[in-house]
Amino acid sequence: MDIESAHRIQAFIERRDHWFAPFSAPPSDWPAPEQLSFGRYLAPLVVRARWSPAAGWSSRQIVPRGDVQVSVASGTVQYGLSVFEGLKAYRAADGSAHLFRPHEHAVRLRTSAARLGLPEVDEDLFIEACRDAVRVHEAFLPPHGRGALYLRPTIAASEEALGYRAAIEHQFSVTVMPCCDPPLKTVMLWAEPELTRASAGGLGAAKTGGNYAAGLLGQMRARERGFDDVAWLDAATHSRLAEAGTMNLFVEVDRTWITPPLDGTILAGVTRDTLITLLREDGLRVEEADLALEELARFERAGRVGGSFGCGTAARLVRISAIRGPRAGVQFRDGGHVLRFSRLLKQAQEGSSDSHDQWRLRV
Ligand SMILES: *Cc1c(COP(=O)(O)O)cnc(C)c1O
Repeated sequence: MDIESAHRIQAFIERRDHWFAPFSAPPSDWPAPEQLSFGRYLAPLVVRARWSPAAGWSSRQIVPRGDVQVSVASGTVQYGLSVFEGLKAYRAADGSAHLFRPHEHAVRLRTSAARLGLPEVDEDLFIEACRDAVRVHEAFLPPHGRGALYLRPTIAASEEALGYRAAIEHQFSVTVMPCCDPPLKTVMLWAEPELTRASAGGLGAAKTGGNYAAGLLGQMRARERGFDDVAWLDAATHSRLAEAGTMNLFVEVDRTWITPPLDGTILAGVTRDTLITLLREDGLRVEEADLALEELARFERAGRVGGSFGCGTAARLVRISAIRGPRAGVQFRDGGHVLRFSRLLKQAQEGSSDSHDQWRLRV
């Protein structure tokens, strides 16, 4: 961060005025929206609140990102006691900013926190913290149609103590990452035969780092084999498709779009839910049902399999061209559907069509 931005941020924080925009423009060396690869460029400020058993959550503050620190001797670092969300703020055609489905993200963060014994963040704090995070970085929000601010609300056990128990100090923070409008990519997945991401009774339905830690080696193995990412199978039988890397999965069979049911091992994606609604409105059949890879391979030989995609907030939609494993594989034939779904989703998220006003909350 250059000296001038540092001074501006300091002046802004001293005013303690959440409505005052500290930036009129991003720094002069900030990349164009299309050059913002995911995860590289973080915005300078973070919204934060702290929790203690006596006081609950403190009122939220805005602080420079570098001031938010967590000890190596915290439950977060040692035992994975943290949960997070990923949602986006978009700019509508009239220039205003909105959050996409923040209520659903607030509810999911609460569910994730409950599973890990972390204090829950109520919906008001969640939404106002996300609004602040966007307001102070409005200058970083790309123009309509060209990108978004990706928000990463996180609850982390911050008490410095090594005992294995619920911590008595926690931190809630919202980190902001300006990002591009993700182009539609096509990927091939490797159906991992040994490792699993989640099992019944475990953490699969919580958005937490532990699932990502369980999954990284699978992603690395898939890439070593020349695939783009891993297709996770269920832990009990290693036969049913679960998720596409860190995205929810849809497959077209007999002109019906099928996605695995929320059985406690699948992350309940907001994008998944949005697409179920949009596809049904588009006159398509959508079902939540188990999908065994070997069965899909048989269906493919009978000409019954169409397209496939993965979906999530970060990537929006990714076309899947094939899923292969040591025992079975399937090739998908996408008749242009996936590109159309991607456009429908973009319109709903960015507010370029009037449909589903209730999904977009003005900042
Ligand atoms: C976050 C996430 C998704 C996608 O959820 P969205 O709410 O659509 O962003 C899917 N699978 C996993 C494992 C995830 O962590």
